[in-house]
Amino acid sequence: MVSPAEPPPLKPSPVSASVDFDAKGVQHGVLTLPWSRDDSAWGSVLIPITVIAGGPGPTALLVGGNHGDEYEGPIALYDLALALDPAEVTGRIILLPTLNAPAFAAGTRTSPIDGGNLNRAFPGRPDGTVTEKIADYVTRTLLPMADVVLDFHSGGKTLDFLPFCAAHILPDRPGAAEQEARAFELVEAFGAPYSVRMLEIDAEGMFDTTAEDMGKVFVTTELGGAGTARAETVEIARRGCRNLLIAAGVLNGTADPAPTRWLDMPDASCFVFSEEAGLIRFLVDLGAQVDTGQPVARIYPHGRTGQPPRDLRAGRSGRLVARHVPGLVKPGDCVAVVAAEIDS
Ligand SMILES: [Zn+2]
Repeated sequence: MVSPAEPPPLKPSPVSASVDFDAKGVQHGVLTLPWSRDDSAWGSVLIPITVIAGGPGPTALLVGGNHGDEYEGPIALYDLALALDPAEVTGRIILLPTLNAPAFAAGTRTSPIDGGNLNRAFPGRPDGTVTEKIADYVTRTLLPMADVVLDFHSGGKTLDFLPFCAAHILPDRPGAAEQEARAFELVEAFGAPYSVRMLEIDAEGMFDTTAEDMGKVFVTTELGGAGTARAETVEIARRGCRNLLIAAGVLNGTADPAPTRWLDMPDASCFVFSEEAGLIRFLVDLGAQVDTGQPVARIYPHGRTGQPPRDLRAGRSGRLVARHVPGLVKPGDCVAVVAAEIDS
């Protein structure tokens, strides 16, 4: 009997950390990933990292800047890295405010080095592109240490969201019900104005999927967007992050709970796409209630006058949780997202 050939074992990661993950106290350091290029022959990509460890307890992995043009998470995490005292930490917090550091420095969603979308590059490769090497380090070094993961997102330069915290409806497998329930408890504890149960449409390659497949409790956010951060959404990120750490048993202190409304994103009917280019006029604003078939936006062809606009309609009833920015759309753009109300 010939057994099928095993794939060759993965090479070691080329990433090195200047922090000791087993040491107590606060350490601010960098992950170093060699990147040889025209302006720096033996240069590197540096990714900032903070490790804060107190007594024994669970480990939380907090990530911002998975996409480089989303700002609430990075602001909250730079702030937390300065503020946290190891005496109040029961366990360990590993904090990376700008995981895709090259994209963050460029202010772009994807990496300017290789065009890689980090949140579609998981589980990554140790011998792949720069983006794949970052994903591989997270998958094989950081995730095995983590019990709970919080990955901050916002809409970036092309979407604006009603601020929400979210977790996924997981595929049916042993342990998934408990893992999913724990994630939804932490979403509730985060206390964003809205909380969403998401069924991911395009889950392949996502950080979320890799972490969830490893049994980690994974929580994410969409807190705003439009290429900036607002005072309100930054405050939601700061307060929510602390609340989540307290609920996860990683941080001592008193939570600052806030009421949240639960929404469901169960299938592809939530997403409204444009098949045409044009000037977009929203007919409803973020947070509005819409009915199935209701026009939510109107696309005007702007090449000449006298052309009728095209209406884009909601595929389901619910609340408008995301809208396209800026004012021009291209064929294939997601222009709106409608989530269903849940009675919780
Ligand atoms: Zn994102």
